[in-house]
Amino acid sequence: MPINALRQYLELLKNSGIKELYTPLSNKAEILAKLAVKYSECTLCPLHAGRKHTVYGEGNPDAIAMVIGEGPGEQEDLCGRPFVGAAGQLLDKMLISINIKRQDAYIANIVKCRPPGNRNPESNERLACMPYLVEQIQIVQPKLLLIMGLVAAQSLLGSSNTLSWFREQNNEFMGIPAYVTYHPAALLRNPNWKRPAYDDLLAFQKIYQQWL
Ligand code: SF4
Repeated sequence: MPINALRQYLELLKNSGIKELYTPLSNKAEILAKLAVKYSECTLCPLHAGRKHTVYGEGNPDAIAMVIGEGPGEQEDLCGRPFVGAAGQLLDKMLISINIKRQDAYIANIVKCRPPGNRNPESNERLACMPYLVEQIQIVQPKLLLIMGLVAAQSLLGSSNTLSWFREQNNEFMGIPAYVTYHPAALLRNPNWKRPAYDDLLAFQKIYQQWL
């Protein structure tokens, strides 16, 4: 199912009054841990061939905010955790700058296995892995999504718009408000984007605080 069609399907379910996908689940941490083990052997897309570890995601299972990147890099692949390399350290600082501790958020990626050479995940890879992210969102039931970078934004919100366009929109995915900003890896490559990224974070913080 194309990603746009998946999004429309989820919206249709929600608008049809089908509530099962949104029903609170007990013991979310245990469910997420079991799913992480279950999917660690996944071979649904070609990315499984080069991985050392599947990087399922981690964080607060009752998080207000879910942070979503595009996929694991080298360090993440080595240890099986999301956002732990240089970009991950910058993500931690970005969150701290708006008074969110890393452990307060739930952190995941569009694809759970590292694309070779850190290339962008292909559409078939994103499509194959998307149900795992959808499932994580259903379980955690975050109030807000913080989407890091163009690949993640295009995967969740549409296929052809620019990062600047996404940053200025009132986006949502699965009925959840979704805020788009620069991927920390992009900020490491181009520090000039740190100021607009901070503006994005401040806007996100305003909404986040309403849920505290
Ligand atoms: S990226 Fe996702 S779909 Fe592809 S092998 Fe890894 S877990 Fe499976």
